[in-house]
Amino acid sequence: MTIAFGPVPSRRLGKSLGINNIPCKFCSYDCIYCQVGKTINKTTERRNFYNPYDIFSSVKEKINKIISENGKNSFDYLTFVADGEPTLDINITKEVELLREFDIPIAIISNSSLIWREDVKNDLLNFDLVSLKIDSTDCSLWKRINRPHEKLSLETILNGILEFRDDYRGKLITETMIVDIQYPEEAIEKTAEFLKEVNPDKCYINTPIRPPSEKITPPKKEILLKIIDVFSKIIGKEKVIPLRAFEGSEFILSTTNIEEEILAITSVHPIREKVIKELLTKKNITYETIEKMVKEGKLIKLNHCGETFYMKNIKSRKQF
Ligand code: SF4
Repeated sequence: MTIAFGPVPSRRLGKSLGINNIPCKFCSYDCIYCQVGKTINKTTERRNFYNPYDIFSSVKEKINKIISENGKNSFDYLTFVADGEPTLDINITKEVELLREFDIPIAIISNSSLIWREDVKNDLLNFDLVSLKIDSTDCSLWKRINRPHEKLSLETILNGILEFRDDYRGKLITETMIVDIQYPEEAIEKTAEFLKEVNPDKCYINTPIRPPSEKITPPKKEILLKIIDVFSKIIGKEKVIPLRAFEGSEFILSTTNIEEEILAITSVHPIREKVIKELLTKKNITYETIEKMVKEGKLIKLNHCGETFYMKNIKSRKQF
C-alpha cells in the first residue's frame, strides 16, 4: 500500500507531495473527464479506509527519503489528492493533526459534494488550502459532467460551499473543468455569479489534459475563450486563471524502488511518455523498466489528444 507519492509538479500548488488516502475508486461523483477512470464504488458514506498512523508513517518515510536524496526544499504542500474523493475518509482531521509534525502546509483537493455535512465542513476547516470543484451550477450540466450519487443535491452542495466560505480562514481556490459540450450562455453566467459570491482567492479553469474516463476531448478554443471572458468580466480578471496545458516535468522520483514510485504516482496522475523518459534518464535508468511494467500488466498505455500517457493498471481502467 503506497499512500504518499511524488512530489509531483502541480499547476496550482507548486511541488506537492500527494497523499492518496482513499482506495481506488471510491467517489461520490463519476466525472466524465476523470483521469483515474470509472467510479467503481459510487458512495456518499464516509468511512474508515486506512489507519491514520499508517498514513502518517507513509508520509514520514517519503519525506525522509526525498530530503535525504534531494535536500530540504522539495515540498510546497502535503496534498490530500486521492484516486477518489478524499473527504469520504472519516479520519481526515486526525491525519492532519499527525501531519502537522512536518511543518509543511497541508492542502486538499475535493469535489465539494459532501461539504454541506457539518463533519466534513469542520474537517476542511483544518486545511491551509482547500480546492473545491465547481464545474457548473446548472443542474443538468452537473448531472451530465459529474454524474453525482443519486442522494446528492446540487442546491445543498452550493449552500454548503457558501457556509464553508463564511467560516474558512485559509486559502480557498476553486476549479472548474470545461469539456467539449455546449454550455448555454445563462449557465456560464450563473456559474460565474456563484463563484463571485464564493469569492475564492483564485478561480482556476481547467481542461481535460490527461486521458479521461469517457471519450471526451478538450473544449473547442472558442468555447473556452468565451467562458474565460464571461468569468473574467463577472468575477474579475485577476482571479480567473486558465491552467496551462502542461504541468511540467518536475516530478521527484526516489530511486529506492522505482517501480513502486511510478505506480504510486500513476494511480492518481497519468504521466506523459516524454516526462517519464526524462525522469528515467535523470536517474540513469533505462526505458526498459517501463516496457517491462507494461508487459507485466502493471502499467497501461493510454492515448489522449495525440500524446501517450502511462497509468497504473487499476480496476477502474480495466472496465474499458
Ligand atoms: S474527477 Fe475527482 S470527483 Fe470526479 S470522479 Fe474523478 S475522483 Fe471523483
